[in-house]
Amino acid sequence: MSENSESNSPAISVVGIPFDDNSSFMFGTAQAPNAIREALNSHSSNLTAENEIDIGELNRWSDLGDLNIDDAYTAFKEIQSHTAKILAQQSKIITLGGDHSITFPVVKAHAEVYSDLNILHIDAHPDLYDSLDGNRHSHASPFARIMEKDLAKRLVQVGIRTINAHQREQADKYGVEVNEMKNGIPAKLKFDGPVYLSVDMDCLDPAFAPGVAHYEPGGMTIREVINIIHQFKGHLIGADIVEYNPTRDINGITAMASAKFLKEIIARMLAEL
Ligand code: MN
Ligand code: MN
Repeated sequence: MSENSESNSPAISVVGIPFDDNSSFMFGTAQAPNAIREALNSHSSNLTAENEIDIGELNRWSDLGDLNIDDAYTAFKEIQSHTAKILAQQSKIITLGGDHSITFPVVKAHAEVYSDLNILHIDAHPDLYDSLDGNRHSHASPFARIMEKDLAKRLVQVGIRTINAHQREQADKYGVEVNEMKNGIPAKLKFDGPVYLSVDMDCLDPAFAPGVAHYEPGGMTIREVINIIHQFKGHLIGADIVEYNPTRDINGITAMASAKFLKEIIARMLAEL
């Protein structure tokens, strides 16, 4: 996709998706987008990322606000068509979830633009259930839907520490590259072509990120995730930050971690324009 400096649309669009209907354990991630914005704009920090790009100075990205979701039954269609509209304006998109189910319609729209999409998925969970509690759109299933529809040429997962027999079978079936937490963080992550990054906040150890529904101890540090955002080889073309749950947070520390990831993702994308 070529960048269009003539158009009025920003090079990067941030969109909140306040949708948590497909959560299996507790609700609350619908409140995340505004809490992440507040943390990003808090005077307790500044808007300069670690690559020294000040995202407050560069107006090549824009927060478009939250997507209006009228109806849970049509939510995925709305998310997909809104994403497609933004991509058609030659803008990259970063979405703030919401639960992880939103990644399926967002990736679906990307797959129509990028035929050779790679996905880098950072999470405690593989999210490969064919269905959970009878829900094929569960937040535990987005990557099963993505892979069965052949929307990505590679799915690389990092931080995984909950794989069970069913999801192992699914991973094998779809050729998912699962990097389990017990084996550490892969030193080099390298992709040919466009990379979509999906960050589930429960990838972090609950000690660093209490604001999630599913506590899975033995997780990543905030630094490890930031280093991946900075260092993976490939062209970052889209991203989501999902599963932040403000109702469980303590003093907004998980909001701040989400905002930090957002700032670093925006800055990497701006550096790659
Ligand atoms: Mn997830
Ligand atoms: Mn997860």
